[in-house]
Amino acid sequence: MSLRSLVAVAALMAAGPALAQETPPELRERPDIAAGAAQFVKPTNAERTEVLVGFLTRLGFTPDIQTFEGGNDRTGPMEGANVVVTVGEGERDIVLTAHYDAVKLRDGTLSQGIVDNVGSVMAMMEAAKTLEMGLEGQPVSHRFVFVFTDQEELGLLGAKAFLESHGKDRIAAVVNADVAAYGRTVMYGENNGEPSRFVLETLRALCAERGFDCMGYPVYPPSDDRAFSAAGLPVVSLGVQDAIGAHQMWLAFNGGEDNGLREGFVPPVFQRIHSAEDRIERLNGQDVARFGLFIADLALKLDERLAETAPPPGAEPAAAADDPADDAADVEDEVAQPG
Ligand SMILES: [Zn+2]
Repeated sequence: MSLRSLVAVAALMAAGPALAQETPPELRERPDIAAGAAQFVKPTNAERTEVLVGFLTRLGFTPDIQTFEGGNDRTGPMEGANVVVTVGEGERDIVLTAHYDAVKLRDGTLSQGIVDNVGSVMAMMEAAKTLEMGLEGQPVSHRFVFVFTDQEELGLLGAKAFLESHGKDRIAAVVNADVAAYGRTVMYGENNGEPSRFVLETLRALCAERGFDCMGYPVYPPSDDRAFSAAGLPVVSLGVQDAIGAHQMWLAFNGGEDNGLREGFVPPVFQRIHSAEDRIERLNGQDVARFGLFIADLALKLDERLAETAPPPGAEPAAAADDPADDAADVEDEVAQPG
């Protein structure tokens, strides 16, 4: 196994030998994350862009602000801005996405958009920072591209714009995070089609290794992931919630008529998001940090899995010297095997 646990690496780096017995970092209080998330509470999405760029810059990244012509029928034309940072180098990309825009409420004010989706943004920054630190001396075969998308709430417009400008050829896998501010149950959608199967397998293996409570949803609410699966790319959409909320949400989406939920029951998280109740008080910094490290480990595990299954770039098929008919069969096998 070449995969190092970033949770373990972070523990060593943060603690040093003398403190090695202390609480691992993913279990420490993280008031910095709550304080950081609070900075995103702004009247406009354009101001949230500035907050995000400031954050990434302070973390030592050089964020690339990629503007696009967005807006929809309701808003009219409106420029959007995806914010992109990359970690590591490689011929192909593992793309990690979280939207940072918040929804405009009926009274015209902007939601604080903490559960949806500053929690995920903070987790992704934690993942980017951890990968950046942890990759020193560790060979990886992919570049990690963190895309903080704009205008998800207007119809996944930032994700679509990114895909259009970036192209899909370089993209080996995508991990999206949406709705993640509290709780330790990792939710994931299983509804992004056959190309995404190896991403789910990799995720489930990680959940088992780390002892994470992970819950697969045959039906899962759409987010930026759908822009990528529509393009045939392997993608998983993740979130976190408390165990009860996650189970209630599972039942609401997948339980059918006999789901056992009382008449008119709406899972609490859906009462909160897209409302004035999606507030900073909901966020638990420790849970968000834990999710961030989980995402970093998933990115590394995907890198490893893809490196195992894909031939090195430019490599000749093993059977090239034999029967040409074998070559065709080999190619088909490779195509059929995600990676
Ligand atoms: Zn969202």
